[in-house]
Amino acid sequence: MSEPQKMLNAEEALELLLSHARPLDEVEHIHTTHALGRVLAQSLVSGVTVPPLDNSAMDGYAVACADLNPGGETRLKVAQRIPAGSVGHALERGTAARIFTGAPVPPGADAVVMQEDCTPDGDEVVIRATPKSGANIRRAGEDIIIGQEILRAGVKMRPQEMGLAASIGLADIPVYRRLRVALFFTGDEIVMPGESLQEGEIYNSNRYTLLGLLEGMGCRVADFGIVPDSLDATVEVLDQAWREADLIVTSGGVSVGEEDHVKAAVARTGKLDMWKVAMKPGKPIAYGTVHDTPFIGLPGNPVSAFATFCLFVRPYILRCQGVEKVTPRSYWLPAAFEWHKPGKRREFVRARLEARADGALAVVIYPNQGSGVLTSVAWSEGLAEIREGSTVARGDAIRFTPFSELLG
Ligand code: AMP
Ligand code: MG
Repeated sequence: MSEPQKMLNAEEALELLLSHARPLDEVEHIHTTHALGRVLAQSLVSGVTVPPLDNSAMDGYAVACADLNPGGETRLKVAQRIPAGSVGHALERGTAARIFTGAPVPPGADAVVMQEDCTPDGDEVVIRATPKSGANIRRAGEDIIIGQEILRAGVKMRPQEMGLAASIGLADIPVYRRLRVALFFTGDEIVMPGESLQEGEIYNSNRYTLLGLLEGMGCRVADFGIVPDSLDATVEVLDQAWREADLIVTSGGVSVGEEDHVKAAVARTGKLDMWKVAMKPGKPIAYGTVHDTPFIGLPGNPVSAFATFCLFVRPYILRCQGVEKVTPRSYWLPAAFEWHKPGKRREFVRARLEARADGALAVVIYPNQGSGVLTSVAWSEGLAEIREGSTVARGDAIRFTPFSELLG
């Protein structure tokens, strides 16, 4: 049992957390239609060439360029008709083939003239263009060749990756199984929405935020509900949670007050590894294990719970999920605000981007940065970083991380 007291900075905390993350190695095969948000467990190698044949990019006429009068019109016999899904035969010299988008270009043809440049006339066609060889032809294999690796293990499947896997004919793909996360909320003052509030009580907003965050990451969540501020109650729920989950996440009760029992409960059932990060919002974050199950205790303040999840829990979970890229991409952009008071802790302020008069984007921050002000998070588009000990003047470049890089 240990309870380290050292205050870590944001990088140290993340590094420490990531060093503890153990990737899931259990693989399951699922329908590609259900792959959204899942993580590919093996690289996908194509068994086919895409497109399989040279084919037409237009509705029009397939021709041999050598048959066309340079700079003038050409009348050709339409010797065949090739709709998508059928294969024509070799183009005889001096003829054209009526062809449709996606249909294979017949041998002997080296261009397709779009129908807007052609006038059909009985069984002939007048071609009013002189295309270059190769015009309007999509080449076999221009997308994928047989044997090509199209997706690497560790990729999180987005709609475009689902389509790509389907384009090589995969109806099923290997993915890591979903991470099971046990979640509970501490606080005698916490009440579920739908119930009426008594004096001194507040609604359990963290349940909704954290459920959304976890489910958005493809986790399977076991919700253990609200746990009273008592050591015994906390130990009891931890004792159930560790058996059912790959990770336990909690909200509240990790500060230093005597009503904060989570750390003591973890220390009793397992091991506590770290609990203070020099950041705002946030500060108390606990990492440890309950028996063998990793545990992350988030602060109760709604904005702190959200921000610490995005900055620490998300990369940790991504690593457990086997995702290759776990660090978000940030952008350095000019501040449209001033920050006069240098802080001891790194501040992650709720911010959005607005266009200045010159059209360039600048970072605007929500006026109330209180760690209980959830409207700031709903208002914002990302987090801007103000480093410990620094101030910001209008126009200074600051680091902005959009929520697209911090969620999901
Ligand atoms: P704690 O981390 O338990 O000291 O809580 C810090 C602040 O967050 C207190 O004002 C709590 O009332 C509030 N809080 C704790 N848990 C929740 C929750 N689940 N939903 C909304 N606010 C919470
Ligand atoms: Mg509390």
